[in-house]
Amino acid sequence: MFITAHVGPDGDTLGSMLALKFAFQKCCPHIQRVDCFISGRMPDVYRFLPGIQHVVDLETATDVLEQYDMAISVDCGSLDRLGPAQDLFKGAKQSVNMDHHISNKNFGGINVVVPTAAASGQVIANVLAEAGWPLDADIATCLYTAIVTDTGGFKYSNTTAEVFEVTAKLLSAGADPEYIYKELYELRPKCQTLLHAQAVVNAQYNPDSTLAWTQISRQQLDDLGATDDHVDGIVETLRQINTVVLSAVFKENRSGTTKVSLRSDNHAIDVAAVMEQFDGGGHKMAAGCTIEAPLQEATDKVLPLLEAQIREKTKSFAQKP
Ligand code: 5GP
Ligand code: MN
Repeated sequence: MFITAHVGPDGDTLGSMLALKFAFQKCCPHIQRVDCFISGRMPDVYRFLPGIQHVVDLETATDVLEQYDMAISVDCGSLDRLGPAQDLFKGAKQSVNMDHHISNKNFGGINVVVPTAAASGQVIANVLAEAGWPLDADIATCLYTAIVTDTGGFKYSNTTAEVFEVTAKLLSAGADPEYIYKELYELRPKCQTLLHAQAVVNAQYNPDSTLAWTQISRQQLDDLGATDDHVDGIVETLRQINTVVLSAVFKENRSGTTKVSLRSDNHAIDVAAVMEQFDGGGHKMAAGCTIEAPLQEATDKVLPLLEAQIREKTKSFAQKP
């Protein structure tokens, strides 16, 4: 079997993928191989995850079967987001789609999609519990990483009682919050902090500063020696400003296309719905897409829609008794 996830791996995709791999290896020893494929550069910050050395980039992988008995996709909302793994996924004898994105297209043979879950790691923790498969310290470390990253460190609105119930079990099984926190958040490279500073200084605002956005060019990343994953977190910093209800980051990809990240500050604005107009998606308050256009053109396409969202929201507030 193989396990894969959405392009551009993050804490939830990698943690979910590795936890599943460990669980299958432990509980189904007859399965000959459990390959883990990503596409895109592995962010350095996740190199502490147990088993990460077995996760390979499908585009450079040398040992790939022509067909697999089973394909599992984790944390991915649609087939096209699997990138180069799409054909391998479609060609597998059986396929499973395990996810928590509200925009999930149910593209698997079996679909385990729980939009109320904070992370795909939470979905997997529940599936393992239902199957009666035990946790161990490695599985717990991976699932804790998945949940802590997708809840913004247990801060976002997806942080429910159930999140803490599942997380408590992960701690009992050996996840170490202090160690994982340090690895994720206290060992930042200088270029990442400098990139954040530049991005915040360069941010632009609409007249009442309810909308904040910033553009990040390839040149800027290259000049700093920063990589794509170093952009993570900037869009949240802009949202923290007390007037801001919608924040956006536009990043120039190496291919010349533009990656858009959106965050809203409450449920009134559904950013996943905005991003679906550009074949993207995500969650109500956090979503993204890739637009096949240069940085400025993509920015000019998206900004009017964001301004319209804010106008509508203001109107609906005004109409409230
Ligand atoms: P981020 O802005 O941090 O890249 O992503 C925020 C959320 O939106 C994540 O849940 C991510 O999976 C989702 N997302 C980001 N980019 C895309 C995209 O191009 N397509 C879809 N369907 N979802 C995306
Ligand atoms: Mn996720």
